[in-house]
Amino acid sequence: MSYVDEVIELVVKQNPAEPEFHQAVKEVLESLRAVVEANEEKYRKEALLERLVNPERQIKFRVPWVDDKGQVQVNTGYRVQFNSAIGPYKGGLRLHPSVNLGIIKFLGFEQIFKNSLTAAAIGGGKGGSDFDPKGKSDREVMAFCQSFMTELCKYIGADTDVPAGDIGTGAREIGYMFGQYKRIRGVYEGVLTGKGLSYGGSLARTEATGYGLLYLTEEMLKCNGKEIAGKTVCISGSGNVAIYAAQKAEQLGAKVVTVSDSTGWVYDPEGIDVALLKEVKEVKRARLTEYAANRPSAQYHEGRGVWTIPCDVALPCATQNELLLDDAKALVENGCIAVAEGANMPTTLEATEYLQKNGILFAPGKAANAGGVATSALEMSQNSERLSWTFEEVDSKLKNIMVNIFHNMDDAAKRYGAEGNYVVGANIAGFEKVVDAMTAQGIV
Ligand code: NDP
Repeated sequence: MSYVDEVIELVVKQNPAEPEFHQAVKEVLESLRAVVEANEEKYRKEALLERLVNPERQIKFRVPWVDDKGQVQVNTGYRVQFNSAIGPYKGGLRLHPSVNLGIIKFLGFEQIFKNSLTAAAIGGGKGGSDFDPKGKSDREVMAFCQSFMTELCKYIGADTDVPAGDIGTGAREIGYMFGQYKRIRGVYEGVLTGKGLSYGGSLARTEATGYGLLYLTEEMLKCNGKEIAGKTVCISGSGNVAIYAAQKAEQLGAKVVTVSDSTGWVYDPEGIDVALLKEVKEVKRARLTEYAANRPSAQYHEGRGVWTIPCDVALPCATQNELLLDDAKALVENGCIAVAEGANMPTTLEATEYLQKNGILFAPGKAANAGGVATSALEMSQNSERLSWTFEEVDSKLKNIMVNIFHNMDDAAKRYGAEGNYVVGANIAGFEKVVDAMTAQGIV
């Protein structure tokens, strides 16, 4: 059996009931086959892949807090510090009822390669909790965040591990967590990114993942003789990534016709009104029915269905495994030319394969949504310097980073005879730097 297959089998055996983690490992290792085979003896001897798929440290803790009725609630908190070969652990905190160790491990594993691709000196990590901020009062969210940080603060720091936002963790949650960290540790440092502008946040961090997704998509289309202007775009999700992806797509001359949330989706043939979407989601924290009620051209549908709408470009920006094989078939049938992942692992392995086989340009999340963490790294630099850069400065650095990521993955794919396969390219480009650093640092 090949080394890659052996390690995939080992991961499934050693981590039962963690299907998302198996899926992420499989996707990465399968596409590294050519590199691994070229170095098989050395990698085997050094157990390089076994070390890569085992987190350096995983922390699981109790998070007790008191709700508005005086009832004590107990959630579970996680931080997986996956790989620090190229820098301090960096990766978001997800607050969603579906969170479990396997999901945090899949996200942490992906983060290693994504962070490497950004060219910033940051390692891979991820964390979160099964707490659901939806429907909670501000006081309840604060109580949870303070309890969560009371434990987490023992393991993080500006030079060791720097968490950020993710699903369910926005500016409000980061603020409460930062306050508690500072209070307990007694240091004012850039321990979290995605902070508010008044206390060390970076301009353009809020927009970064969505904007970055469009910068990379634009470059991918350009290098394949196409352009984003005039294209019809379907987006799923209506959170941080989706909103700013829609905004940048429209700024670049495309028309965005869908968005979704966990209960339904909107088709708006006139083009999504981003200002209204922001009002509904960021200010009122309401459902998409509210968007449809205020927009005569919009049709609201319950359940799933975004990918049935004909489009040129599809941008899944909600969550993992939301674009399935049938969705991929519908996209191909309707003439879609490109899919770029705003979310982490939104496309299943079989859907990805189908899209690629049918000639769709496919940009994997670890490259396409890396703008968020890249800008978090820029926030860390500003914190270290005690300086704040302008929006334009950050945005132009972000654009450069995304264009470079595209070319790095494109070049890596070409080097290994897989031209146009950006999944292979992104994984190889991310892997090479991490492996080099791991090898140089000895058996640790
Ligand atoms: P948000 O919480 O702001 O938004 C998430 C969106 O996805 C919401 O519209 C939510 O709907 C929807 N959603 C969440 N879970 C499900 C589900 N199980 N089924 C259907 N819809 C769902 O998160 P972000 O926009 O920050 O994150 C979206 C994705 O992008 C995630 O995969 C995240 O890991 C990834 N990402 C985020 C980055 C960032 O900077 N924020 C950086 C890189 C990747 P509802 O409101 O109804 O729950």
